[in-house]
Amino acid sequence: MARFVDNTITFPYRRSLGPVTGAFMTALTERRILGIRRGDDVLVPPMEWDPTTGAELAPDLVEVGPAGTVASWTWVPVPSEQHPLDRPFAFAFVVLDGAATPLLHAVDAGSPEAMRDGMRVAPRWKGTRVGRIDDLACFVPGETPETDGDDAGPAAEPVERMDYLASITYRNPVPASNDRLVEASHEHRLIGLRCPTCGRVYASGNGYCPVDALPLGPEYEIDLPDTGVVTNFSLVTPVQYPGQTETEPFARVFVRLDGTDTMITYSPVVDVPADEVRVGLRVKAVWITDDGEGSGGLFGAWGAFGGWTPTGEPDVDDPDLVNRIF
Ligand SMILES: [Zn+2]
Repeated sequence: MARFVDNTITFPYRRSLGPVTGAFMTALTERRILGIRRGDDVLVPPMEWDPTTGAELAPDLVEVGPAGTVASWTWVPVPSEQHPLDRPFAFAFVVLDGAATPLLHAVDAGSPEAMRDGMRVAPRWKGTRVGRIDDLACFVPGETPETDGDDAGPAAEPVERMDYLASITYRNPVPASNDRLVEASHEHRLIGLRCPTCGRVYASGNGYCPVDALPLGPEYEIDLPDTGVVTNFSLVTPVQYPGQTETEPFARVFVRLDGTDTMITYSPVVDVPADEVRVGLRVKAVWITDDGEGSGGLFGAWGAFGGWTPTGEPDVDDPDLVNRIF
């Protein structure tokens, strides 16, 4: 049974909403839904440009709803963490009273048997609203709007910006060779896998030769030297995104291990300021005792391997070093 690790990447971004979407979001905090006039029609949600012609629309905003009619729907039996409700619900096109176009939103109806085209629904508002589409928690069957809990009132200022966290989680199987690599690190050993076909030696513990598409089991493991030379590096200036613990610029280095053609990539370097990291720097492995999850590496852990520190030997002067990345 394979072991898996979850890796989540989260990107925060802040967008300015502009005069039309900003007014729509501000109105949501007031428990009102706005559309924009296009000739005799009202588009909901409001847009700055006519989606048919691309022409700019005058900012003639008009309140719609609050109730509306379901035009079509689909049932979501198993909601994910990204869904608006934590229980089974319907995604529905709701044509709000006075609107010409449908708003896509959730309907909390309990079961698919309670859903049908043409059913009437009304908003269920969150008690605390910040100017996002999910201030409108969902729609519920009937004509009467509801509010969850105590009403905290509308936003004090017009809503002009929106913070958003884009997030994706990858679920990766951990190769057995990676677990053995971590075990070896506790003995202060770097191990690699030598492909019997092409002779290449891999230090990453992925468990296969990508050139020959060959799985490499424990019988192909070899010990690797724990000294080498920096061939490339990246200096990272940390952006303070959620989860970033670094505050100062730091380096990630590529090291060719002595007497081999094997690279260890994207590894930390310690005891040397980032602006002194250079190609040709002689380094040796650093062993650490704190090897908690997230200490680095493709699968979240390199065990007790903590990166590299200078050996103090003279730099290697070889212009070909920079051509060694993998
Ligand atoms: Zn191979």
